Amino acid sequence: MSVAAVGIGSNLGDRFANLVAAAVGLGAESLLAGVSSVYETAPVGGPEQGPFLNAVVIIETATPARALLHAMLNIERARDRKRLVRWGPRSLDLDLLIFDAATIDLPGLTVPHPRLLERRFVVEPLLEVWPDAVLPDGTLVAGVGVEGDEPLGVYPFPSVSSPLRGGGSAVGR
Ligand code: ADP
Ligand code: MG
Repeated sequence: MSVAAVGIGSNLGDRFANLVAAAVGLGAESLLAGVSSVYETAPVGGPEQGPFLNAVVIIETATPARALLHAMLNIERARDRKRLVRWGPRSLDLDLLIFDAATIDLPGLTVPHPRLLERRFVVEPLLEVWPDAVLPDGTLVAGVGVEGDEPLGVYPFPSVSSPLRGGGSAVGR
């Protein structure tokens, strides 16, 4: 089994429902080992757009990294993700942040995610669920000072057993 950290974000449509769909989708593929709080954050870069909701999910998975990315892109598509403008508004974005101690540099898949340490809206939820997260080169994520705006708000990750979805599940808190 491998351990992976996946960043999820949404700033279009029902943002909370999109994050829940990401957790449910990842849970169908892998074991959910941790789900962070939801951080509302101002958009960084790209065109003018609404605030994001961001979270990080830790999974234990038997799926290889490339197949996992493929599954992640399918989860995005199922939420009607369109790629119109780089860094533009999106219903759902899943980023493979860390995959074991793997360094991957393939067309279409770079791990660790190249912008991980630059993004407070990724580092903060990651450290919440995985305080000891370490990169393949030995960098302790917690030891890297990350700049960026304070979150606009921090909310509990919605429980999937709430009326949003109906049936009981181990996702969320
Ligand atoms: P961003 O996530 O930087 O805002 P996009 O989601 O539009 O940008 O870009 C996604 C593309 O980046 C995907 O088509 C995917 O092939 C590629 N990619 C490369 N490395 C990764 C990774 N670690 N996680 C997710 N996507 C990645
Ligand atoms: Mg992405």
